[in-house]
Amino acid sequence: MSKYIFVTGGVVSSLGKGICAASIGRLLQLYGYSVNIMKCDPYINVDPGTMSPYQHGEVYVTDDGSETDLDLGYYERFLDISTGKENSITAGKVYQTIISKERKGEFLGATVQVIPHVTNEIKSRFSALEKKCDVTIIEIGGTVGDIESLPFLEAARQFVLDKGRNNVLSVHVTLIPYLPTSGELKTKPTQHSVNKLREIGLHPDIIICRTSSPITDDMKRKLSLFCSVEEKAVVQAMDESSIYKVPQALYKQNIMEQVFKNLHMKPRKKPNTSWFNIINKGLNPSKEVTIAVAGKYSELKDAYKSIYESLNLAGMVNDAKVNIKLLDTEKGISLAQLKNASGILIPGGFGYRGVEGKIKVIEYARNNKIPFFGICLGMQCAVIESARNLAGLKGANSTEFEPKTEHNVIDILESQKSVKDKGGTMRLGAYTAQVEKDSLTHKAYGSLNISERHRHRYEFNPKYVKALAKAGLKTVAYHKSETMKAMLPEIVELKGHPWFVGVQFHPEFKSRPIKTHPLFRDFVKASLKHCKK
Ligand code: GLN
Repeated sequence: MSKYIFVTGGVVSSLGKGICAASIGRLLQLYGYSVNIMKCDPYINVDPGTMSPYQHGEVYVTDDGSETDLDLGYYERFLDISTGKENSITAGKVYQTIISKERKGEFLGATVQVIPHVTNEIKSRFSALEKKCDVTIIEIGGTVGDIESLPFLEAARQFVLDKGRNNVLSVHVTLIPYLPTSGELKTKPTQHSVNKLREIGLHPDIIICRTSSPITDDMKRKLSLFCSVEEKAVVQAMDESSIYKVPQALYKQNIMEQVFKNLHMKPRKKPNTSWFNIINKGLNPSKEVTIAVAGKYSELKDAYKSIYESLNLAGMVNDAKVNIKLLDTEKGISLAQLKNASGILIPGGFGYRGVEGKIKVIEYARNNKIPFFGICLGMQCAVIESARNLAGLKGANSTEFEPKTEHNVIDILESQKSVKDKGGTMRLGAYTAQVEKDSLTHKAYGSLNISERHRHRYEFNPKYVKALAKAGLKTVAYHKSETMKAMLPEIVELKGHPWFVGVQFHPEFKSRPIKTHPLFRDFVKASLKHCKK
């Protein structure tokens, strides 16, 4: 049977609960345990796929094609596991299942209620990964005290009874705010938050205090007394220069002693801390490089989370600090803004807004031989740019955009033509591709067969592949679709340019510390080379 760790949040949202949860998971791995981890999102959307990035930040896509919360990205990066639909529970999914069972008459005449029907459904999802790991970590989204998260917390309370106290640990991540007027850190909000949690029947075993300055032993004593946790179980998580330092910070405070004690577990081996050393080395680079990311949601830190993380990780293996310069193509950019950029990346996106700005940026990268990496929409814009400016296809465009043109170099996927619903219907998840020998891509991956994650409705129109290759933009990888009896273009490269790669998929979802994605690694390497010139 698996052991369980619940991670809840108090006082405010955005405390980095996901990072704390993933850090505990990483530490368990260092001690020889296998870990899986899931996120509960209390919203009614079935998944975040239909939400705007302004609402939700990035939508993280898993191998099995689930559109999930960006915390799953942290889980995969920290734990080096591949997550999927079982790792993400939303109130929408829970209610959808219950309502469809009710319509089939599966509740045998009963009145369907939050307790026990909703909580039973949640609990069965909590234990879905039980056979696959020694410990399941369950992060409950939102803040204790929200109406929405109550059924999840109630299910967690019942779960402790079902599984036995020795098998379930409760971690509460909370904020210790600093009041500049009195120059003090305050514990009161945490006391209230823990009270709220105890009212629901969940008692924290460990409290992780997010704080901007160190908490004193006195404060620990106070928190221990008022929140009824052991003093040793009050742990601080200070703001770190890198999220990858959080596992070490928790480790140094002996958090694992508390975890093992409460779960009646023992370390399986001496912890293998080489992961810390590799991270620390990567975080002290000797070089620096500036990469421009030209997208639409530049002011929103979370919208391109995995892209920023992948760039940082690629910096770590190249012994370089990557400075990311965000450009908003919707606001109209001047090319002067690109002056210091040694590499240019255009991320994915939807709709026409900002597209002409992206095309202008690509033209600049192409003409000035600046390393360029186009991802999904970024690749599609590169195809449009080459079509217009190299192949002379006037007004070339995508059928996704206005104005309409006779040259739809980007066109809707055959499989998407009959799709009506918006949620979960794109070409999603992992697909394989075959790569051309000796291409930049082949050199990066060191393999001719790859698998990458997708999230799109449109594609490089195969009718134009030859014309574009003749003009210089060559398709160097295809997915062979048996069902569609078609070859779907997956990667383009520009001839005569040091590093110009466009990919139809999202490599940012597969980059991890130590296992940096090969395309990000080589893009940053090429940018460093450009920087030296
Ligand atoms: N909007 C484009 C499509 O659907 C690109 C999608 C993306 O960048 N994720 O094909």
